[in-house]
Amino acid sequence: MAKKPSSAPASGAPAFARSAPAGPRRSPKGGGGSSAKGALKLMVRVGIGFDAHRLVEGRALVLGGERIDYPRGLEGHSDGDALLHALTDALLGSVAAADIGALFPPGDPKWKDAESRLFVERAVSIVNERGYRVSSIDVVVIAEAPKLAPYVDSIRARLAGLLGITQADVGLKATTTDGMGFTGRGEGIAIQAVVTVTAKQRRPAAFAKLRRVSPEPGGRRREGA
Ligand code: MG
Repeated sequence: MAKKPSSAPASGAPAFARSAPAGPRRSPKGGGGSSAKGALKLMVRVGIGFDAHRLVEGRALVLGGERIDYPRGLEGHSDGDALLHALTDALLGSVAAADIGALFPPGDPKWKDAESRLFVERAVSIVNERGYRVSSIDVVVIAEAPKLAPYVDSIRARLAGLLGITQADVGLKATTTDGMGFTGRGEGIAIQAVVTVTAKQRRPAAFAKLRRVSPEPGGRRREGA
């Protein structure tokens, strides 16, 4: 592994890109260490979430907060909305927070038959408390049935409202697994979700300071740029 410089890095890459590698974050004053105070904050972070629930008789099918017309629904302690569960985990993951199971234990009677939008709302609050706002999401519903095409736009609108973003920033598509696996056999539905969040503070003061001493691509030092 290449040795990392001991002082503030001086490449041509943006400051936020230089703060991305794992390991202790550096103070913008060059003090080093992992102290959160004064550390450069990643401008954009990504979270990923996955969930799968069994399809059972006697349950309403709810995906993304939308009631879907189908003879079976998703099993679960809450309303079983696996889409919102995967989204919640993606939101929490974007800021490295505890996952949905830790925040909302499935054995807690408080969450029995609860609307899963509550989980999303709490996750958005945590993202905001940690200095970020949701920028965009992308979701894949993996199911042999039902066909989701008639519901895609209404679910996107609902998710946009829940997250405080525009519908143009909500990706949602459905796919099958060509009859393979538990989704292919119609035993359940699986969901993948990705979230991007952006730092509320658009550019830390330290960013501009680092830019002033960044070299030109040719290696020449650029002062006061
Ligand atoms: Mg779940």
